[in-house]
Amino acid sequence: MRQSRLDRYLLENPALAHRYEKIKTKVPRLVISGYDITNRCNLRCKGCYFFDGDRSSQFSDDRTLQEFDAFFASEVERGITMPHFAGAEPAKVPERLALAAKHWDRGIIYTNGTLPLDPNLPFMLHISLWGAEKTDAQLRGKHAFKKALDNFANDERAIFIYTINRQNISEMREVAEVCAQRRVQLSFNHYSPTRWYGFSGADLQGDVLSRGKGRFSSHDDQLALREEDLQTIRDTILELLEKYPATIIYSRYYNERINNPQGMFRLDPETGIANNCVILNAPHHREYRTDLTWDDADCCIPNTDCATCRHYVANYSKIMGEFHHHLDNADDFEKWLEVYETWCRLNIRNWND
Ligand code: SF4
Ligand code: SF4
Repeated sequence: MRQSRLDRYLLENPALAHRYEKIKTKVPRLVISGYDITNRCNLRCKGCYFFDGDRSSQFSDDRTLQEFDAFFASEVERGITMPHFAGAEPAKVPERLALAAKHWDRGIIYTNGTLPLDPNLPFMLHISLWGAEKTDAQLRGKHAFKKALDNFANDERAIFIYTINRQNISEMREVAEVCAQRRVQLSFNHYSPTRWYGFSGADLQGDVLSRGKGRFSSHDDQLALREEDLQTIRDTILELLEKYPATIIYSRYYNERINNPQGMFRLDPETGIANNCVILNAPHHREYRTDLTWDDADCCIPNTDCATCRHYVANYSKIMGEFHHHLDNADDFEKWLEVYETWCRLNIRNWND
């Protein structure tokens, strides 16, 4: 049989072959779908994807537990192996999460970390983090980071996901130091404006700013990232990866790609929707709302503007879907593999065991 380029890279580099084999063995069939399992939340953060727009919070949240049970069973039947539970705040509905755990033994819960979650749930926890103490309290209305550390610092399922925005870039080092001291794992997301927050992601016009539901709306309070911010973020993450290798979970190749001002998505000129978004185009992926309906046009991050989408879930998936574009040489393949491995560290329990 003819040897492929990939076969050759793997034969020539057994360590690379071992890493690739681990992914194939531990993540054999990855079929992701998203579920907003409640529209309740104990916070009202500025720039929240869920409450800022009409594609998520307006749906009813009155399905019974029996309905959820049957629904989760039908999703397993549909082939979903990796559910993503979001909302508003999933910790508000522990009984729905307990039901989900009857049907799946892996998945992700996106939580603000301020409320407890059953330690027996088998899912990874991505805990949202919006900056050091003062900014965190200002953007979220309370000291969410401190409370989340109290709740989850000793929970091996937990990874803190710091959403970098224009207001908190300068706090990345401070937060990394706190996480290192508390021995919690930290990764980063880029703030991506909602469609209602603005269209350019750069310096937005006042009339656009006032359309959001955030508590602040002046240029001084702007969260959207500028081109120069991307360079700062890139350099800071590289520095933190060197300084805190046991704390920071982030891919170096992803760091290059995500901080390229061009962004990764091509937009349909008529709709403004990304036509090369892996999540939106994945055949099995659906984004279910709280009433358990879904719409083909919805991505996993409701209300987000594709023009400035740097959300980590969408952009990691984008690179992971570019396998065939990374086979020209072994170095390119290793970059692709490093992104995939980082995704596994973020999403698969006990990946390092
Ligand atoms: S915790 Fe999450 S869902 Fe709740 S308001 Fe903040 S960003 Fe929105
Ligand atoms: S995930 Fe895809 S569809 Fe959703 S905002 Fe980002 S680019 Fe657009």
